[in-house]
Amino acid sequence: MITNNVSLKSLHSFAIDVSARRLYVVDTEAELFAIWRHASTNSSPRIVLGGGSNVLFLENYSGTVLLNRIAGMTIEEDTDYWYLHVGAGEVWHDLVNACLEKNMPGLENLALIPGYVGSAPIQDIGAYGVEFQQFCEYVDVLQMETGTKHRMSVAECQFGYRDSIFKHNLREHYVIVAVGFRLIKAWSPILHYGDLVHLDAQQATPRQIYDIVCAMRRAKFPDPTHQGNAGSFFKNPIIDASAAEKLLNHYPDAPYYPQPGGEVKLAAGWLIDRCGLKGYRIGGAAVHDKQALVLVNFDQATGEDIAALARYVRMQVAERFAVWLEPEVRFISSYGEVDAVRVIA
Ligand SMILES: Cc1cc2nc3c(=O)[nH]c(=O)nc-3n(C[C@H](O)[C@H](O)[C@H](O)COP(=O)(O)OP(=O)(O)OC[C@H]3O[C@@H](n4cnc5c(N)ncnc54)[C@H](O)[C@@H]3O)c2cc1C
Repeated sequence: MITNNVSLKSLHSFAIDVSARRLYVVDTEAELFAIWRHASTNSSPRIVLGGGSNVLFLENYSGTVLLNRIAGMTIEEDTDYWYLHVGAGEVWHDLVNACLEKNMPGLENLALIPGYVGSAPIQDIGAYGVEFQQFCEYVDVLQMETGTKHRMSVAECQFGYRDSIFKHNLREHYVIVAVGFRLIKAWSPILHYGDLVHLDAQQATPRQIYDIVCAMRRAKFPDPTHQGNAGSFFKNPIIDASAAEKLLNHYPDAPYYPQPGGEVKLAAGWLIDRCGLKGYRIGGAAVHDKQALVLVNFDQATGEDIAALARYVRMQVAERFAVWLEPEVRFISSYGEVDAVRVIA
């Protein structure tokens, strides 16, 4: 399906009123490749989107948007694992539901994360002590210059905290078309975070975890269908041990999470909240009044409003804590993705 000069408002979770020159919904790899090639020969910018839940459009997009809807799921198993091959165009939460319904637990801590399966590897989605990479067996990508398909191993994907190779070297040339999962049959619950800590590890069921995770998320995040947002706007900053020691001497109540290499991860939401920024507004953009890590489209915000607010928040946090926040959200200009840190520096 093709549409010309189309509004993107309902196709990204910030719901900013921007448009794209062309929009295609693609259901097959062949279609994806053909449309990408056509846009390339016309020197038109092009971008693949899943659910648009991790992007900020700064202005109208002058090129072609391809909505990846390549569907399908196959399941195989051996004595120890289930192996799933899932199309990039499947909805992430539907996959979590389908796995639970088929008694294949593992993904329940990642319930209700918006977006599509093909986007999950890009920032190695994570929540409540679990990350996508723990279940990833491979990622299938289409090389967009040649149309050839490659299967990338977990090591090749270079997963890190809200990071992977797909955010860097491969960004311009590869599109994810399918993901392989490996779910262990000897399931054990992950109960380190939030209300999950109250469950008994011997008794907890995947369904209980799923229900609690869904309840926590509904309480924590504003629903994008009511108030546009992209979830956590900033990454939790990771700082070196000596900077962390200094900060924690001043603010002993600051939440912190020691990292394997000796560095320390801080809670970006706590830092923003401590600057007294909940509810702070610039234009139509606001810091959410209950969840400081979430910037919202409060009232017909433009992309520039959100970026200006992000800039202000970043500066306030830096002045108070000497910590520079980095956006988790991807910034899209008229011609394509731009460096989010540069935009708000
Ligand atoms: C309310 C809310 C809560 C959230 N909670 C979490 C959370 O707990 N944990 C978490 O990790 N994230 C969270 N997010 C962020 C978001 O849900 C994830 O990053 C998700 O994986 C994005 O999926 P998407 O399909 O919407 O991606 P999109 O926003 O459509 O795309 C994101 C980026 O990936 C690129 N892309 C998309 N599909 C492909 C493809 N097939 N191949 C190559 N590139 C592609 C796009 O060009 C874009 O740069 C939350 C977002 C919201 C709105």
